[in-house]
Amino acid sequence: MAGSTRIIRYVLFAFFGIMILFFILSSSSIPKPSLPDSNTITKWKGNKNKNDPSSGFAPSSSPSSEEQILVDDRPAPGSPAPTEAPTSNFTMGAIPATGKMNATFVTLARNSDLWDIADSIRQVEDRFNRNYHYDWVFLNDKEFDENFKKVTTALVSGTTHYGTIPKEHWSFPDFIDQDKAKKVREDMAERKIIYGDSVSYRHMCRFESGFFFRQPLMQNYEWYWRVEPSVKLYCDVGFDPFRVMAENKRKYSFVISLYEYAETIPTIWDSAKKFMKQHPEHIADGNSMKWLSDDEGESYNHCHFWSNFEVGNLNWLRSDAYISFFETLDQDGGFFYERWGDAPVHSIAAGLLLKKEEVQFFDDIAYWHVPFTHCPTSEQKRLENKCACNPKDNFDWKGYSCTTRWFDMMGMEKPEGY
Ligand code: GDP
Ligand code: MN
Repeated sequence: MAGSTRIIRYVLFAFFGIMILFFILSSSSIPKPSLPDSNTITKWKGNKNKNDPSSGFAPSSSPSSEEQILVDDRPAPGSPAPTEAPTSNFTMGAIPATGKMNATFVTLARNSDLWDIADSIRQVEDRFNRNYHYDWVFLNDKEFDENFKKVTTALVSGTTHYGTIPKEHWSFPDFIDQDKAKKVREDMAERKIIYGDSVSYRHMCRFESGFFFRQPLMQNYEWYWRVEPSVKLYCDVGFDPFRVMAENKRKYSFVISLYEYAETIPTIWDSAKKFMKQHPEHIADGNSMKWLSDDEGESYNHCHFWSNFEVGNLNWLRSDAYISFFETLDQDGGFFYERWGDAPVHSIAAGLLLKKEEVQFFDDIAYWHVPFTHCPTSEQKRLENKCACNPKDNFDWKGYSCTTRWFDMMGMEKPEGY
């Protein structure tokens, strides 16, 4: 009996000792950063259907509970707009500082892309979306399997949607001569042109050029951010790119630009010129022709924005001007008789149908898609935004980039000794 009393006394002593130690440690520790734990995320995700993308803005989501404050570090209403970094060419502040834009991430992927897209989602969530909870639309020419949906839904902090692309948007149109298209692929295979022998890559490029923004799941959104498998974001994105686009009246954006392989687009400029002749009403005053052509539109210099990253306006892509441009190109058959990429298609459209000021260069979004990097030149920017990229890898000022030409056309200041 005496032995068991002693044991109880020891147990009680140890218990209170641990309690006191715990109290001392927790009250003297450094305040934790506002990283939500997984329970918080789960609780928040329970509320995530509240946002209705059908309005111009989703309802203003001023945090009403403690959980939301934990994961929401957007500026409070009335707080000053972030100061402009030296090479930033956008301003913020005109639209109320809180509330989500009517926007979504969008990814085209196969089920087999799961782990590569999981990597990308994690990048985007950690650097940006954990504070914003934008939706994510996944599109596929086949049905997504349960595992793909389960894993991606667990990773995305906003609502996820999954769409299967209709056959008409992922097949040969009836005006395409199948034999001719096949011969082109065989010839391109022999010449070792990248993706030259692939049918699915051609469907993909045509879909991204003309159809992703018309899918039912995309209809209610105004803005999109395209994300591909295996990309990296190297800096915190401490602002809302959708808001920057809206406030500065931008319609399209890029982080990397370069010259396209000439062999994949021999006649794309002929089609573009035909369009310009047929539809002068759609050609914008003050467009970026100077960036696309070195001889006032006679020929194409192959400069294009790299479309594996895009933040853009869906209403622009759904406009008569863009649709009519896409249809002119599509009818000419170059998606199949050549191997036109969606990057030159989007870029030529942005270059001709938009004013040059409607295209945004996002220096602040540090990005990698094999094999090129965009890493901000400014050291101050890299330190402030916790960037993990090596500035030596930055492609902006290298020979094969078209970004120098963009800066020249825009009259934007290039860094010293670039
Ligand atoms: P690259 O970046 O030009 O080398 O091409 P990717 O292989 O990254 O393809 C571009 C995008 O289209 C990525 O988001 C891919 O996941 C997607 N994609 C490519 N081919 C297919 C396909 O056959 N089916 C589906 N559903 N997605 C595809
Ligand atoms: Mn890719």
